[in-house]
Amino acid sequence: MVDVPAEAPEHCPGTESEDAGKVSACAGCPNQNLCSSGATKQTDPGLALVTANLSSVKYKILVLSGKGGVGKSTITSLIARTLADDNIDRNVSVLDIDICGPSQPRVLGVLGEQVHMSGSGWSPVYVEDNLSVMSIGFILEKESDAVIWRGPKKNGMIRQFLSEVDWGNLDYLILDTPPGTSDEHLSVSTYLKEVGVTGAIIVTTPQEVALLDVRKEIDFCKKVSIPILGIVENMSIFVCPNCKTSSEIFPALTGGGQKLSEESNIEFLGSLPLDPLLARCCDEGNNVLTECPNSPVIPALKSIVQKIIKKCEGDKENSS
Ligand code: ADP
Repeated sequence: MVDVPAEAPEHCPGTESEDAGKVSACAGCPNQNLCSSGATKQTDPGLALVTANLSSVKYKILVLSGKGGVGKSTITSLIARTLADDNIDRNVSVLDIDICGPSQPRVLGVLGEQVHMSGSGWSPVYVEDNLSVMSIGFILEKESDAVIWRGPKKNGMIRQFLSEVDWGNLDYLILDTPPGTSDEHLSVSTYLKEVGVTGAIIVTTPQEVALLDVRKEIDFCKKVSIPILGIVENMSIFVCPNCKTSSEIFPALTGGGQKLSEESNIEFLGSLPLDPLLARCCDEGNNVLTECPNSPVIPALKSIVQKIIKKCEGDKENSS
């Protein structure tokens, strides 16, 4: 069940009500599709299935961004690769719930692979022995197939991913979400409510136009009680590979991610520079850690990932 958002219509019947999404007061509410799909009601049997299927996954992390194009999918894949590379005994998986624009098969270099169904569910596609990925991209016939799905269908797909994929014994499940706050976010926060989300990582670029939308993302996390692990700023600076001059392509006129983290009391996990080689590497599905070992992105990325590990595993040690 999701909390009723603050901007809910005045006569909102409540997300658990039989009338949710169906009465005139729901017209125009951003949650109408999800409510009418039934996903928000406590009785959804999918909730128990998801909880059972994900109970052996230790840490569940959502990667969010206010805007598209800020590097959320790239950073999801980089975090997953770094977590897996850092410790071969650590099992990591990426779940791409960006149903209308799945990019993980491409950036993780497994475009065109097929998912297989076995007695224990769908098997994710393996990128490395300890890194796997599941995405709607594997199910579409063509990469260019536009997925124009309404809320209930998206919700059903997300439920299936969460409850029917054989994740095995996972340490980290990292969910790449669409930009903004949409049906997908509400579905995932609803289904993960019982099993618990370890936290969200919010990706932004330094300019105010991106930060404005990040504030909405922070608000969303508060409303659905998802803790925020921290903010990552992407494309903060560009260091010219020839003359080594550093320039700010997207100037942080209002203080960028760092200032936002201070204002909102959320940890600033770090910033990644803009590196054209990284963009090419990801577009070609190559592993930046092995293909571009001198990229300025790598030390920044490793520092961010160490902070994430400490927040997840450190917190667990403290609580046990
Ligand atoms: P989003 O998921 O937020 O829509 P993407 O991860 O798809 O954004 O990134 C958009 C584009 O920017 C991609 O072509 C990606 O390779 C590129 N990109 C992302 N981060 C960087 C970076 N730090 N340096 C260079 N290019 C980047």
